[in-house]
Amino acid sequence: MTDCYCGSGKRYIDCCQPVHQQHQQAETAEQLMRARYSAYCIANDAFIISTHKADKVPTREELQTIFDNTHWLGLTIYQANSIDANHAQVEFCAWFKDKPSNKLDGLRERSDFVRHEGLWYYTSGQQRTPQPPGRNDSCVCNSGKKFKKCCGR
Ligand SMILES: [Zn+2]
Ligand SMILES: [Zn+2]
Repeated sequence: MTDCYCGSGKRYIDCCQPVHQQHQQAETAEQLMRARYSAYCIANDAFIISTHKADKVPTREELQTIFDNTHWLGLTIYQANSIDANHAQVEFCAWFKDKPSNKLDGLRERSDFVRHEGLWYYTSGQQRTPQPPGRNDSCVCNSGKKFKKCCGR
């Protein structure tokens, strides 16, 4: 039994895997956002590319460089707001260790999602400054340990 990469507490097969297999399983922007994060964790470039609607989406080569250099630790979702039936925003931070430097970092973003013909897509995002937890707070990776005794060491 593997907990899902996105930190939902559900099993991967009951959470992001169905979305990876069938795009329409993402009924909300947050579900799509979680599945996109999980896709980064398992290097599913096809899913990342096919759920991104923008003039310029990352290439497989660009994604491969990210996969090679990133150890994903966990996802924090701060807010998920629906704007109308077909537009939503999700603010999150994806925590990771940069493999070359072994440094903890976070990609914090308020992302825009659009629903087109019933399917949710990521369009763009505004990056913000990540705020790591305090040393005694619980770790970003959902281990249940204190940050200072886990990824914050
Ligand atoms: Zn998940
Ligand atoms: Zn940790």
